[in-house]
Amino acid sequence: MSIEDSMGRPLRDLRISITDRCNFRCTYCMPREKFGAEHAFLAKQEILSYEEMTTVVESLLPLGLKKVRITGGEPLLRKDLSVFVAMLRGLDSELDIALTTNGVLLERHASTLFEAGLNRVTVSIDAVNVEMFQSITDSKNTPKEVFTGIEKAQQCGLGVKVNCVVKSGVNEQEIIPLVQACSQRKIAVRFIEFMDVGTTNNWNLESVVTGEEMRQQIMNHFGNLKKSPAQHPSDVARMWSLEDGTEIGFIESVSNPFCGNCTRARLSAHGSIYTCLFSESGVDIRSILRFGATSVEVAKLIQEIWTKRKDRYSEIRGEADTERKPVEMSFIGG
Ligand code: SF4
Repeated sequence: MSIEDSMGRPLRDLRISITDRCNFRCTYCMPREKFGAEHAFLAKQEILSYEEMTTVVESLLPLGLKKVRITGGEPLLRKDLSVFVAMLRGLDSELDIALTTNGVLLERHASTLFEAGLNRVTVSIDAVNVEMFQSITDSKNTPKEVFTGIEKAQQCGLGVKVNCVVKSGVNEQEIIPLVQACSQRKIAVRFIEFMDVGTTNNWNLESVVTGEEMRQQIMNHFGNLKKSPAQHPSDVARMWSLEDGTEIGFIESVSNPFCGNCTRARLSAHGSIYTCLFSESGVDIRSILRFGATSVEVAKLIQEIWTKRKDRYSEIRGEADTERKPVEMSFIGG
């Protein structure tokens, strides 16, 4: 059985933010001036336990859930993550379990996560140049640490992809070096158009480098790019390949939205369901979880939320009310 929203889109993917904390302060997601020392992160008791998150996943499997993506903040900051992965794997041997991380802690955790049942990781890295990397992440870490984590993940048998957010006037000159770095490691790299997520990244259209512009830059350097067929209609990245087989993807939420096939729900660390990355509010399910609701009762509530869903923000971005206050991306995990 699968449940569909008001536009006929099934709930197939659940993104779970397991923490709102991060060891980076990326300027387009968690700028330090807004997420500094005085920022009130969620208190321990406000955050769902792994058992509670597992109950939510258990409730959605009979409704057609196929994929869980573990995100944050930075999910590798939360203790015993492999215990949670093992809980999810225990629910369904076919469930596709993925993790999005900034990669700095990946070398330390890759093997335990793989043994616990994790299938693959998506690593966010926006520059190969050290200074550029440190200025975007507002950290003292280096791309070398991230690539060491990526190599460890590959050695363990985890599938690996790389994501890079491109912002005009900031890191478009990193596109070519990132394609080279990923091609050498036989990893697909996906370039993401800078998005107006949350309320803290001072987004404007001029700072967007479109997928088309990125492809032109890549073709000018590497030669022809060939479009690849989509593996699944709800895939966010449109994939292309170079003559040598290097896979390059583009996530074009601004210039070429993909809301029509969006099958993603999001669960925040404090236990609310969000039906869109650009939602202004979520629906609390923590209360019923803490009142001991069964997975059937949780499923009933999420079914009510999903069947009413009509989100398609990226398609109506230009017409949307400019006073909107969408939830922060770091709070619901991108
Ligand atoms: S804008 Fe919302 S509805 Fe559209 S693809 Fe993104 S998350 Fe899905």
